[in-house]
Amino acid sequence: MPYDLRILEHVVESSPTGIGVFRVNDFNDLKSIQYVYINRIILHEMRKTKEEVFGKYIHEVAPEAYEHEVGLQVIKTYRDVALFKGNINLGVVEYSNSEVAGLYDCSVHYMYDNYILLKLENVTDVEKEVKERTSDLVQKNNELEHFSYMASHDLQEPLNSLNMFVDLIQDIHSDNVNDELGEILNFVSESAKRMKKVTTTLLDYNRLGIESEIKRVDTKKIIEEVKLDLKQRIKKSNAKIYIQQDLPELKAYPTELRLLFQNLISNAIKFAKPKIVPEIHISVENKNGWTFSIRDNGIGMSLKENENIFSLFHRVDKSSDIDGSGIGLAHCKKITELHNGKIWVDSIEGKGSTFHFNINT
Ligand code: ADP
Repeated sequence: MPYDLRILEHVVESSPTGIGVFRVNDFNDLKSIQYVYINRIILHEMRKTKEEVFGKYIHEVAPEAYEHEVGLQVIKTYRDVALFKGNINLGVVEYSNSEVAGLYDCSVHYMYDNYILLKLENVTDVEKEVKERTSDLVQKNNELEHFSYMASHDLQEPLNSLNMFVDLIQDIHSDNVNDELGEILNFVSESAKRMKKVTTTLLDYNRLGIESEIKRVDTKKIIEEVKLDLKQRIKKSNAKIYIQQDLPELKAYPTELRLLFQNLISNAIKFAKPKIVPEIHISVENKNGWTFSIRDNGIGMSLKENENIFSLFHRVDKSSDIDGSGIGLAHCKKITELHNGKIWVDSIEGKGSTFHFNINT
């Protein structure tokens, strides 16, 4: 064998990725599929030797694959790829027989004529580790949520007392408080109020979804109500809101869904470009559940901000005169997750933003 071919054979044989070549002899007969070549790693997974596999039919070597739902799906994929001359990525599939059991990342590629190539990777350990880490993270997240709920809840009372006593001192001594003491009391009072606002916001965040139940809601009605609530702001900014006809009825947490629309619509008005009338388009598509989009012609934001803005207390421009606390979008994220959905934004700085979210309840 020429040197180049020997190297090539060595590379394929010792590749850590499983590689197999199959020939589909008759597209109408799934039992006509033959092993042509299988590299060492797949042979090891199959617990077979070359002699037991090369040139043989799948139904002779692994008849159980035809009785196994995933096995049959993989075999049909071989046929389809050979027939339609394409590639199919099967993703991670679970397979077990009397010899092996595991998770395999698997894709099938067209080669030529009736030949197809299988690429296979045993990802059992990786997937196991990911699962373990995810459940660890979920537990830590629950603990953190519980902690922030308790902290924000328990801080309400002392903060109320602090505010009350500062007001009381200011009242009692209103006649003989000198300027310096007055300033200090004002400072304490303002700080306590700010802290109260942060803890109440945190408490609201932690309470989302706890006290409500899923119901059938009419999204058109919800948006009309939100428009009524925002009447003053809409009037003041002259905002134009265009709403797609035929908004759906769906299952959702009514109060939370309303808060979601309210945050997104009020942000679309709030982050308008100076001297430009805000134009807001609300639309929906029946894709991945119901996917809603709220598009504005406002100030937009840079790409690097697109992900961060959904974190608690994150604001793009902290020094801006536009007021806010950086909580609205964190609420929106939690609400969409409550509805098994996601929220994301497409935005161009200086041109506008489109917020999308989906509801999958
Ligand atoms: P807040 O509005 O209180 O600052 P949010 O969580 O609602 O907090 O939003 C976080 C940040 O995301 C805002 O400070 C703003 O910079 C950016 N943002 C939100 N909505 C828009 C929008 N429609 N257009 C441009 N920027 C936006």
